[in-house]
Amino acid sequence: LKADLSCQMLVLGAGPGGYTAAFRAADLGLQTVLVERWSTLGGVCLNVGCIPSKALLHAAKVLDEAHEVADCGIEFTPPKVDIDKLRGWKEKIVNRLTGGLSGLAKQRKVQVVNGVGTFLDPNHVEVIGNDGKKTVVRFEKAVIAAGSEAVKLPFIPDDPRVIDSTGALELASVPEHMLVIGGGIIGLEMATVYAALGSKITVVEMLPGIIAGADKDVVKPYFTRIKKRYENIWLETRVTKVEATAAGMKVTFEGKQAPAEPQLYDRVLVAVGRTPNGKRIGAEKAGVAVDERGFVQVVDTQMRTTQPHIFAIGDIIGQPMLAHKAVHEGKTAAEVAAGLPSHFDARVIPSVAYTDPEIAWVGVTEEEAKAKGINYGKGVFPWAASGRALSLGRDEGMTKLIFDAETERVIGAGIVGTNAGDLIAEVAHAIEMGSNATDIGLTVHPHPTLSETIAMAAEMFEGTITDLI
Ligand code: FAD
Repeated sequence: LKADLSCQMLVLGAGPGGYTAAFRAADLGLQTVLVERWSTLGGVCLNVGCIPSKALLHAAKVLDEAHEVADCGIEFTPPKVDIDKLRGWKEKIVNRLTGGLSGLAKQRKVQVVNGVGTFLDPNHVEVIGNDGKKTVVRFEKAVIAAGSEAVKLPFIPDDPRVIDSTGALELASVPEHMLVIGGGIIGLEMATVYAALGSKITVVEMLPGIIAGADKDVVKPYFTRIKKRYENIWLETRVTKVEATAAGMKVTFEGKQAPAEPQLYDRVLVAVGRTPNGKRIGAEKAGVAVDERGFVQVVDTQMRTTQPHIFAIGDIIGQPMLAHKAVHEGKTAAEVAAGLPSHFDARVIPSVAYTDPEIAWVGVTEEEAKAKGINYGKGVFPWAASGRALSLGRDEGMTKLIFDAETERVIGAGIVGTNAGDLIAEVAHAIEMGSNATDIGLTVHPHPTLSETIAMAAEMFEGTITDLI
């Protein structure tokens, strides 16, 4: 096969997994080509995921706080939102990061080839550019990092009023009534943004609870807060029909909390999960196995696929679909391809919902521990007893640590409250290091901080707690 370009390492997809793999491979001396169908690097996370959502969530928090500080004697006139300026600000952040990545690629002499790549055989990828130009790239080794995309519900009509997370982040306008289908992290983060901007939100979820991965008691303070703010949160309920009418999207529900009549919405956000892109890359031609759901099969902790010189990482290989998982896997794949003895061997991967309050968890949840019959103990510290939480005006949080009852090693944690996502990293580290409750309790945490709640929870488990402020 005649190639237009040859390289030692080809990376397919420039998301957090792909650009990490490409940069690491180049740093280790491999001549690297990075294939990306979009015009910017950074994948879902930087362009239409983690980063733009967090920018808008920051704006939402400021808006909410402008109301809430009234309690401490500060009153603002109701804030005005210039939606074009807000959108522009979010785009500036995204552009700064994706532009930064382009610079880093150039610095390392990573050659970016723009277009849709598909495997032709185990050593060639064909890239078709937006202009239809075909480039065949021959590679010695490859990393598949083609990510995932939002799941579509087949019975929902094509209509500009029906959006996925990418549409929600575009921030075209602020609808009056918005339906969020799916009570997972992505749907609820977007609900947080639109609620702060003034939309009346209804959330519908098939399962008995929202944020299904975390323990119910950890989710509860968040649930209590949004129950007061949102129009409806319907659990164990599903959408069965959506019709486009001039008056709005007419939605029919079925299930435990379903309203009897169809309801009208100006905007419907579908956030029912993400599906891997494994079936769209010609993997079979490269001898790379893909399962029926579209996940590329990885056969070892060195990120190899069923074709030993082709690796796969990130959302395309399985759950959890998180950027920090993709990054670590990408680094491993590049190092192994360059001949280093690396493995991806994380004990735990933390999850965070950047809602308000934030919900974060890592390792074994209490519900999992119960279901698996693990002999566990727990330490729970309510933030109502944290001086820092009180002085932030937000005392609804909670820090819960799960310990192995015999070794007293920490095996999991759930935290709900302001900045829970930042706090959970300490517990992830403690689990990786095999720390026990005494290690955590004896570590001097700065006072007054929310991080103290972790040490306090460990002391609660040990029964050595001395004060609660
Ligand atoms: P992706 O980021 O999906 O990148 C894949 C890249 O491959 C894309 O650029 C795509 O264009 C390209 N590609 C695909 N097929 C081809 C092809 N055939 N040829 C060429 N290029 C191709 N995760 C977190 O950890 N924290 C968060 O706060 C967070 N927030 C999120 C918010 C939203 C709204 C969404 C949608 C996701 C969020 N995620 C978050 C998930 C996170 O974005 C993903 O886990 C992460 O981007 C996965 O990285 P990846 O490298 O596997 O793939």
